[in-house]
Amino acid sequence: SQMLRVEGLTKRYGYTVAVDDLSVSIGEGEFKSLLGPSGCGKTTTLRCIAGIEKASGGRIYINDELVSAPDEGVHVKPENRDIGMVFQSYAIWPHMTVAENVAFPLKVRGIGDAAEREERVLETLEMVGLAEYRDSMATELSGGQQQRVAISRALVIEPSILLFDEPLSNLDAKLRREMREEIHELSDELDITTLYVTHSQDEAMFLSDTIALMDNGRIVEEGAPEPLHTDP
Ligand code: ADP
Ligand code: ADP
Repeated sequence: SQMLRVEGLTKRYGYTVAVDDLSVSIGEGEFKSLLGPSGCGKTTTLRCIAGIEKASGGRIYINDELVSAPDEGVHVKPENRDIGMVFQSYAIWPHMTVAENVAFPLKVRGIGDAAEREERVLETLEMVGLAEYRDSMATELSGGQQQRVAISRALVIEPSILLFDEPLSNLDAKLRREMREEIHELSDELDITTLYVTHSQDEAMFLSDTIALMDNGRIVEEGAPEPLHTDP
């Protein structure tokens, strides 16, 4: 079954068409990358799926729920979409502890009581090996650890879909390889449906079941990593 269906998504900023009648689906447990040059509309696509941006047209279904259909006045708020998102810069809150950062989406969504939230936060931190840092201030952590906090925060609500927006682009080369490996392992372990935005062919090749190649607001080619690799 398709966990995510995007049908004819369009996003305009004034006269700029950032996303142009784009359709894409992701099956349950599939890891798909949106790969393309800067400015081709990847981030905008992701933000429309997450609900941080209002789409101009088209339809988006998450786990068969219609969450975006501007023609019908449908725009489900980000916090009501069954989605976890990891941003480019870690975007964790420096004035909060690690545990408070990860608990935040649970609070916003009103999931569980304090004790249940604490348990889920701890479980999620354990998945990324950060349980012992739960009471540290987020800023005391290294860049890689901070990105792991961001991943925990996306996972804690147990979303149907995980979205990544260039999560490695602010890290140095060594850390980028390490985190790439970790995301790969985590994704294998959890088998969670994932859409991963990147301009790095290496990253997309390493991580993905399928790659959707984007240009000018559209998907121009889609397939498993290998055929794309031999066909430049
Ligand atoms: P990518 O993620 O592939 O780099 P983006 O989705 O960020 O591409 O941008 C796609 C196009 O939309 C670009 O031309 C960009 O300048 C434009 N754009 C993105 N966000 C905005 C905005 N808030 N206002 C106006 N134009 C935007
Ligand atoms: P990213 O690094 O994710 O590709 P950018 O650095 O291009 O994003 O843009 C950062 C922010 O600026 C985003 O919120 C995006 O929507 C906005 N933005 C991007 N391009 C434009 C533009 N041409 N006009 C106005 N805002 C823009």
